[in-house]
Amino acid sequence: MSNSPDGGTLKNIVSHCKEYGFIYPSSDIYDGLGATYDYGPNGSELKNNIKEYWWKAMVSMHSNIVGIDAAIFMHPTTWKASGHVDAFNDPLIDNKDSKKRYRADVLIEEYIAKIEGKISKEVTKAAKRFGDSFDEAQFVSTNPRVVGYKEKIQSIEYRMGQALETGDLSDLKLLIEELEIADPVSGSKNWTDVRQFNLMFSTEVGSLADGAEKIYLRPETAQGIFVNYLNVQKTSRLKTPFGIAQIGKAFRNEIIARQFIFRMREFEQMEMQFFVQPGTEMEWYEHWKEKRIKWHKSLGLGEEKYRFHDHVNLAHYANAASDIEFNFPMGFKEIEGIHSRTDFDLKAHEEHSGKKLQFFDQNTNESYVPYVVETSIGLDRMFLAIMSAAYEEEKLEDGSERTVLRIPPALAPNKVAILPLVNKDGLPEKAEEILNEIKFDFAYQYDVKDAIGRRYRRQDAIGTPYCVTIDHQTLEDNTVTIRERDSMKQERVSIDRLISTLHEKVDMKHLLKSLA
Ligand code: ATP
Repeated sequence: MSNSPDGGTLKNIVSHCKEYGFIYPSSDIYDGLGATYDYGPNGSELKNNIKEYWWKAMVSMHSNIVGIDAAIFMHPTTWKASGHVDAFNDPLIDNKDSKKRYRADVLIEEYIAKIEGKISKEVTKAAKRFGDSFDEAQFVSTNPRVVGYKEKIQSIEYRMGQALETGDLSDLKLLIEELEIADPVSGSKNWTDVRQFNLMFSTEVGSLADGAEKIYLRPETAQGIFVNYLNVQKTSRLKTPFGIAQIGKAFRNEIIARQFIFRMREFEQMEMQFFVQPGTEMEWYEHWKEKRIKWHKSLGLGEEKYRFHDHVNLAHYANAASDIEFNFPMGFKEIEGIHSRTDFDLKAHEEHSGKKLQFFDQNTNESYVPYVVETSIGLDRMFLAIMSAAYEEEKLEDGSERTVLRIPPALAPNKVAILPLVNKDGLPEKAEEILNEIKFDFAYQYDVKDAIGRRYRRQDAIGTPYCVTIDHQTLEDNTVTIRERDSMKQERVSIDRLISTLHEKVDMKHLLKSLA
């Protein structure tokens, strides 16, 4: 068997997702709507399973973390306080020749990614040259060419960070010109000035006659947690350190929305805000970095596919921030952010609401505004990470090919397919009996059409980890075959043991236990 090590290319994944009911372009019959997608039957199952794995790991497994489900609409002052009205902007730049619009910071980041690519090439070359004695850490810290590249990256990052932080848009443009960054489509370097563009969608509540009020679709779920923090703390009788978690939609009017579900205008976030005593936040920041990377790696998509990117330039409210990056088909990109946000948000809400948001610590008889460490992961990006790692066009020993999705079994949309070998001789009836037993435990597919080999291929293509085949022997000795997706190996088991065998193989419990 030969494996394609890098998973699928984005183009193949997009068409596979559509063909097999994972993801469709939104409003497809009207030719779609930019950066908006609908999840199909298999997609929504996979998405629900990701949510469940996150929720159980974050909420169910922690006695000091509780969940909420806040509204998407919030009082408009929320977004004034959080800084989103004034500062939730992206710097956009247009190319005068191609008329294409870009995010200035993304153009620069792509330039940096190219330099990183050069470093990787140097490392690969050197590893070949030195063989077993190769010490990568030493090489990247001493090789003059690599050190030069790294210094260049640092100076670009620093300058971009400064320009973004101080809102110096002309310097951002100057940097693009100095680096001679060209439009990736046309190659032209004929750029407009950089302008700020607010990413929040707005709408109105109330009729115009009553004097309608402008409100926003939330651009992040976090603020729903901040404004509820005292309600939750009191009703759940929580003491610091404690967390509040939430899964929900967020909306951003992204300037450039490319790369499929990586950057959407309507997407879903899974966030947890952890409220701690001031002064202990760095400890908790490190704690959550470690916990979150462990959660990612537990899925077995490949440890080498993750890396941390610690922020050098911090937002004004943060005292530490790091992204977990995943190696998507288009390279390493942010999948989750871990931020130490200090007391910035709660203090701002105190100021704007005139309400005290302090926590009374009974141990010390002190009141304080807690500091917050947050973990914020994009559900859709997580979905894309799984799809891109799982997708494989595999050449088999007999020369044939199959497309298989090696989705972690606990997250697979269907855990098992029930397949009567033929559509007669009492086999479908027997299959139905089995189905009536397993449907309470597992998401399943039932398929009687076509030859068994083709049916296996269909299940491989949607990532079903186990196929149960009912044949004539089943009627005689009450056994079935279970075929495993990845190895394609088959074993015969008694129907009495079917449910427990499947539980052993696909239960999310095993994944969760590996986190403990
Ligand atoms: P980026 O720099 O890629 O725009 P961000 O730093 O603005 O992301 P955060 O505000 O930290 O992102 O949001 C937390 C998480 O939400 C991100 O790690 C990402 O997984 C997800 N996310 C953010 N924007 C989008 C989007 N437009 N589409 C899909 N997921 C998103």
